[in-house]
Amino acid sequence: MNASFHDVIVIGGGPAGLAAAISASDNGANVLLIEREARLGGILKQCIHDGFGLLRFGEKLSGPEYAERFIDELRQRAIDVKTLTFVTKIDNTGDGFRVHTVSRGGVTVETAKALVLATGCRERTAKQVFIHGTRPAGVFTAGTAQHFTNLLGLQPAKRCVILGSGDIGLIMARRLTLEGAEVLGVYEAKPTPSGLTRNLHQCLYDYNIPLYLSHTVTRVFGADRLEGVEIAEVDDRMTPIPGTQRRLDCDALILSVGLIPENELAESLGVRLDPRTKGPVCDERCMTSVDGVFCCGNALHVNDLVDYVSANAEQAGKAAALYQPHERRLIDLQPSDDLLYLVPQKLDLGDLDGDLTVYFRSRSEENGCTLEITVDDTPVFTKRYAFLRPPEMEQLTLQPRNWGLAENSVVRFSLKRQEQEAQT
Ligand SMILES: Cc1cc2nc3c(=O)[nH]c(=O)nc-3n(C[C@H](O)[C@H](O)[C@H](O)COP(=O)(O)OP(=O)(O)OC[C@H]3O[C@@H](n4cnc5c(N)ncnc54)[C@H](O)[C@@H]3O)c2cc1C
Repeated sequence: MNASFHDVIVIGGGPAGLAAAISASDNGANVLLIEREARLGGILKQCIHDGFGLLRFGEKLSGPEYAERFIDELRQRAIDVKTLTFVTKIDNTGDGFRVHTVSRGGVTVETAKALVLATGCRERTAKQVFIHGTRPAGVFTAGTAQHFTNLLGLQPAKRCVILGSGDIGLIMARRLTLEGAEVLGVYEAKPTPSGLTRNLHQCLYDYNIPLYLSHTVTRVFGADRLEGVEIAEVDDRMTPIPGTQRRLDCDALILSVGLIPENELAESLGVRLDPRTKGPVCDERCMTSVDGVFCCGNALHVNDLVDYVSANAEQAGKAAALYQPHERRLIDLQPSDDLLYLVPQKLDLGDLDGDLTVYFRSRSEENGCTLEITVDDTPVFTKRYAFLRPPEMEQLTLQPRNWGLAENSVVRFSLKRQEQEAQT
């Protein structure tokens, strides 16, 4: 077994890993980037539609174009890259990490002072949304259908139903329509759509693809190949309403029912996960509960725009490069129940000089509300929003050095609705 030493090892070569590796290198670190696939770019390789990079470059790029800009930057630096290399295990040695990998060259152990986990997310499957019936071919996650269509040039469906109104499902509704398939409809169990507003317009309404809210798929039919699905209306607890079932004949069911951060490696290191994000609990520098282990991109929390992923990963890469073990004085950043989640979850009192970038989502659709941050019940920041929607993540840059924070401070983020505002 060979062993080589780097200051920083970045695991995952998607947009997060690329930006983290570049930023770590620019901040003086000797960097190794490890990617299990043959090519860098992560999931962006299969996202051939445009809309990437509007915030960062002010241009509408396709996924591969966006990724290529970072791959070009990476190649201009002395960053070691290992592709077709899978990280199987990591040991924490106390003063660094031993990263075990498997590749065509065999089993290798790489060592580093700091790690950046940029392993992305995975899609929820049919089993995770409790669909009954047989197990015929023709039930795909939207990402798998995207892979078949855009990378392999294969058409996974001629007449299909899409379950879930997440962004990848909306994008695949349009993509499959353009490839000549009939998309019978997008069925969403919640009373509101899960995807970005721009995707609802550009992918469904512009192509007359119907969206059925408060509906779900309860059963699939077919022995070898899918022959149909059973659709049912659901009540406000998302339980199918008896008597509303009907069968739709189709040859494919495409699932877009959520993404989950991929965190087996983090868990094996004892990194604490946040049940709200399903990603690691981290501080303002993206450091997890394990000193020297940083996390960014979709492994940290599912982002809706890749531009946010790159910005967040640059922060993680820089922090990993500059990492020196020190005693952390962490306080909680607490989201109220109105917020689906808040990242980061912790703030290090020893690091109040810089700006704090936070990401949050509201739990429900809000028209006219104010985000209020309080320290020990005293407001220190407010921002008014004309509307908030759970699918649309919000980003804020704050200056906590002005908040008078101490070790026992309680920092709380909450939403005030119009009627509450009127009362105060
Ligand atoms: C199927 C799918 C389709 C998407 N489509 C869109 C879209 O159309 N538009 C959009 O804005 N966003 C889309 N997203 C969201 C998109 O994932 C993010 O914007 C962005 O790609 C996240 O970057 P990332 O680097 O965190 O993750 P990824 O792009 O997923 O990259 C993670 C990388 O880590 C590697 N990796 C994981 N584990 C290991 C390991 N153990 N060893 C070595 N390498 C490992 C993976 O192979 C992968 O290359 C999609 C997500 C998915 C899952």
